[in-house]
Amino acid sequence: MDFANPTWLEYYVGTTLFQCVRYVILCGGFYYLFWVVLREWTIRRRVHPDDHARADLIREAKDSFWFFIWTSIPITLTLAPEFRVHSRLYLDVRAYPLYWLPISFLLLVFGQDAYFYWVHRILHTKWLFKHVHGVHHKSLNPNPLTAFAMHPVEGLFLMGFIFGFVWCVPTNLYVFSLFQVVSMALNINGHFGAEFQPESWKRVPVIKHLNRATHHTNHHRFFTVNYGLYFTLWDRWMKTFRENAGK
Ligand SMILES: [Zn+2]
Ligand SMILES: [Zn+2]
Repeated sequence: MDFANPTWLEYYVGTTLFQCVRYVILCGGFYYLFWVVLREWTIRRRVHPDDHARADLIREAKDSFWFFIWTSIPITLTLAPEFRVHSRLYLDVRAYPLYWLPISFLLLVFGQDAYFYWVHRILHTKWLFKHVHGVHHKSLNPNPLTAFAMHPVEGLFLMGFIFGFVWCVPTNLYVFSLFQVVSMALNINGHFGAEFQPESWKRVPVIKHLNRATHHTNHHRFFTVNYGLYFTLWDRWMKTFRENAGK
């Protein structure tokens, strides 16, 4: 196998394995560290009053692996070397003005945040909720293992903006990779199930608008509040924001 130029099939298998291993290490690792090893510390900060049911944790892991098997297909069709050449992804940071690097990063973050809010609202319509988004909402008490427990079709919806972006807008591969890391970190943070951010952070610019574990846990508990992904901006603008919906 040529690691620098894998075939699309090798890329698909590698991507699926990578997603599964990353899930076990990051989502499984965070769950084990905070909800098992540091349980007392975490429980003092948990949002939902109940413990996680073992059956829910197993279901979430199964749904996540199934999600990775399916979503590796669009990832391969976009990022495998033989397909990537048709996208606007580029490697040389000087191919465009340097200021384009932070601008494209911000466009990805805020564009995906807006896209997710509205797609999420659509996913809550009756038919799509019953057949697609309900898989994610089986988890009333989210935890790091919930972060990717979704119907594969929801994965296609969510990736739509990102892949549309790299097909249409020049995007440096390092910027794209950084965006993926930040996106993953904020996804796990939202599903953490416990609030580790101190109250004082609510006054820090930018951070005060982040979608915290409290907000997303309350989305899983009460369904019709806090649809946002990275920030609470769209929820505040559309009057769907609740700071502490359960209290
Ligand atoms: Zn969720
Ligand atoms: Zn939802």
